[in-house]
Amino acid sequence: MPMPSYDVIVIGAGPNGLAAAHRLASRGAKVLVLEGANTPGGGAGLAHLSYNLDARVEAAMNLRDHGLRWMSTNLATTALSADGMHLRLEGALGDRLTGNCSDADHIAWAQLRRRLLRFAAVLSPLNQMTPPRIARKAGNHLLQLAKVGLRARMLGASEFRELGRILLTNVHDLLDDELTSPLLKGVLAFDATLGGWLGPRSPNTVLPWLVRLSGQTAGVQGVLGLPKGGMPALAAALARSVEAAGVTLRCNARVIRIMIEAERAVGVTLTSGEEVRAPRILSAIAPAVTLLDLVGPRHLDTGLTTRARQLKARGGTAKLDLTLRALPDFRGANLKDRLVIAGSEHAVETAFNPVKYGRTPDRPVMEIVLPSAHDPEAPHHLSAIVQFAPHAPADRDAARQAMLAACMAQLETQAPGIGALVQRAEILMPFDIEDRYGLPGGQWHAGELSVEQMLFLRPLPGVAQYRGPIPGLWLASAGCHPGGGVSGTPGWNAALAMEAAE
Ligand SMILES: Cc1cc2nc3c(=O)[nH]c(=O)nc-3n(C[C@H](O)[C@H](O)[C@H](O)COP(=O)(O)OP(=O)(O)OC[C@H]3O[C@@H](n4cnc5c(N)ncnc54)[C@H](O)[C@@H]3O)c2cc1C
Repeated sequence: MPMPSYDVIVIGAGPNGLAAAHRLASRGAKVLVLEGANTPGGGAGLAHLSYNLDARVEAAMNLRDHGLRWMSTNLATTALSADGMHLRLEGALGDRLTGNCSDADHIAWAQLRRRLLRFAAVLSPLNQMTPPRIARKAGNHLLQLAKVGLRARMLGASEFRELGRILLTNVHDLLDDELTSPLLKGVLAFDATLGGWLGPRSPNTVLPWLVRLSGQTAGVQGVLGLPKGGMPALAAALARSVEAAGVTLRCNARVIRIMIEAERAVGVTLTSGEEVRAPRILSAIAPAVTLLDLVGPRHLDTGLTTRARQLKARGGTAKLDLTLRALPDFRGANLKDRLVIAGSEHAVETAFNPVKYGRTPDRPVMEIVLPSAHDPEAPHHLSAIVQFAPHAPADRDAARQAMLAACMAQLETQAPGIGALVQRAEILMPFDIEDRYGLPGGQWHAGELSVEQMLFLRPLPGVAQYRGPIPGLWLASAGCHPGGGVSGTPGWNAALAMEAAE
């Protein structure tokens, strides 16, 4: 039998595979990363803003030394209005409002945002923690969870009660209780549901929003960052850093099987038929794909197989890219801002409704970034993340066409004449994203980030501590706790869990 020449094989060079590989290599492990695509970075190629890059990853991987530069670490947002009466959110906490909203909402939003950030900060230590095992003898894990509970209790009795109340409500009701401005409620409802398969009126929409708000950029919580060169430049910095740490990174190397011998993971088989052995395999691709396709049900117990099949991964997010002749005019909006088209919380809900039945919305909601407004050397390009798009329509081509037409019609209402500036348009629907990036259902988090699939239930009970169901196998993708985004957090946590197990 050939001797393994690596200590760890990492499957997938997305943000989590790269973060895990770096951590393991920096502790002396000989690491091989196998990436199916021809470049590393994974879903960072879809992303356009940073909201939760893990500070541990950014610092330990010296991303600045590897080329990461921020064009903005606190991007303002403009909620667009078709009459030009936009609303701008800026300031260190995003709570300074200018434009189309009442004085009462200025005050109410500042209070609500501070409260949400405070609650998110209480929950944020959970992100960097291995989820507790809810089992006897779970000792240390439960102690850590108890510490978070204590932090929550230390908010004071009334705030503690308020945290409990809002966690059980939905975003629509929360916003409706506190605010009146449709534009403000629209942009907030958009943010709260971004990347999910939930409308603002869906139950349990506040917790995923708090998870999003617990993220940091350059050490500041709840802000948005724009790297120079876009998010692919951030992915390139991650890849340069792992190579500098001595990791071997092989692209065009798709894994089709995890080899199991004597009930242990011992290596992988590539599409070429090549076999590579290592005593530890860390899979940084979706857990359902890892378990059902790469390991296979015959190596899993029936209960786990059933639960893996039931894992919910419905993506509702599409990616629109337009190559433009010139910058468009969004009725005077500052083009350096993140621009959001979501006229009200009802507009967000209405965009979600048809998707439940596999249909495209007439008026999708979206966030837009125009990199050339920041960087005169960048080509004119509009990047939009659009909600909601069906992940399994009856006719994919018709759905793609309908979605593109609906997006262009929406854009035209906000930036008249934009259509004439378009040189090239591409829209990736959730099913295209699944085909191209391997995210099941095109799901942002590689598995929905819904309450029943969070913390010790993520990805599945029994494998929520990054340790796979077979000795030698570890799970590390966004499908694991605490979920997605170009954060590197699940990968880093998984590497720490692997170290702790040795
Ligand atoms: C439309 C859309 C827009 C988004 N926008 C943002 C954003 O603006 N900001 C943000 O922070 N997040 C954004 N996200 C979320 C983010 O892209 C993901 O959560 C993140 O990329 C997940 O990282 P990962 O490392 O777990 O997996 P991935 O990034 O999916 O990486 C997995 C890698 O594994 C490779 N792979 C898959 N199967 C195999 C195999 N069998 N063998 C070898 N390699 C394999 C893939 O090619 C890929 O490179 C967006 C997601 C979507 C869908």
